[in-house]
Amino acid sequence: MRLRARHYASGQAIEVICAEGRILSIGPPTGEPATHQADWIAPAFFDLQINGCGGHSFNSPQLTVDQVRHVVAVCREHGIAALCPTLVTNSFESLRHGFATLREACVARELDRALPAFHLEGPYISSEDGPRGAHPREFVRKPNWDEFRKLQDAAGGRIRLVTLAPELDGALVFIEQLVASGVVVALGHTAATARDIAAAVAAGARLSTHLGNGSHALLPRHENYLWEQLAADALTASIISDGHHLPPAVIRCLVRAKTSNRIILTCDASSLAGLPPGRYREWDQEFEVQAGGKVTVAGTPYLAGSGVFLDTCVSNVLRHADVSLVEAVDMAGARPRALLGLPVRSLEAGTPADLVLFDWQPGGELHVKHTLTSD
Ligand SMILES: [Zn+2]
Repeated sequence: MRLRARHYASGQAIEVICAEGRILSIGPPTGEPATHQADWIAPAFFDLQINGCGGHSFNSPQLTVDQVRHVVAVCREHGIAALCPTLVTNSFESLRHGFATLREACVARELDRALPAFHLEGPYISSEDGPRGAHPREFVRKPNWDEFRKLQDAAGGRIRLVTLAPELDGALVFIEQLVASGVVVALGHTAATARDIAAAVAAGARLSTHLGNGSHALLPRHENYLWEQLAADALTASIISDGHHLPPAVIRCLVRAKTSNRIILTCDASSLAGLPPGRYREWDQEFEVQAGGKVTVAGTPYLAGSGVFLDTCVSNVLRHADVSLVEAVDMAGARPRALLGLPVRSLEAGTPADLVLFDWQPGGELHVKHTLTSD
């Protein structure tokens, strides 16, 4: 397979030859016909947080392996070669079913490379309105190591990221246990004080999950958990730059404060992502997908997850945060992979061919032309 585009970091026109999931060689363009070509070629995207898409939710108590496969296929149309399927606050039975089904998808359908790590977001989060976001209050609870062990067993040890609120009773010991077992701990859906955040960092927390969202609508101007997490250099921050969750100025400030080395882009795609505009019913609630991919609780201004994918998030950060193409793409691939200790993909001969070809001009939208995966 012959791919022709400009290298996303150097800007040079290159030709990449791939076979059997690996990059064989990289050199200057030849006159041979290309299998795929586009403006740019880069390592494919990786998303820490995908809840589902196309009408399929990883959180459904009826989740099937075929649905998991479908979500992976849709994500790959948007340049996302691999992702962390994310289960949010729910009953133990639903979480156990979700993780067991994801595990089965990895084993039986060979989706291990597409789903190299699972993300548990909740249920050990704040019950307060605002920080709780759209997570159902009835299932919010205190950290419970025995319960987590059972979920980790159902997942076959694949839960590599847990988002929790560090102010809960028992959270600090729980963070230490997670870290000791090789799980990355993220702070999110939290109303933590400065002290809670400092203690969580000391216990090993390394990420702020979708910083700026899952928080109170109004906060004290100086003493609040946004500044504290922004100022903590030990914490990388994920941000949802889907065009709806954060205003452009906030994206710009977050990226400047953390620097692109400590920012991870996530689309936090909801199960309605990728569906055409309209009203949809899910879990006894009505949602609306608007033109442009905004997903709201029908008839209200409240967001209910994102309706777009990482390709749009990369476009937006390029437009709003004054970063280079290589910085933006690495925030959507190299950074999240490194955080989880997964091998970082690169444009080098001999490495797995997880690649994305896309068209993009400064100021414009990014359009994925082709996603190549090594599996
Ligand atoms: Zn969330």
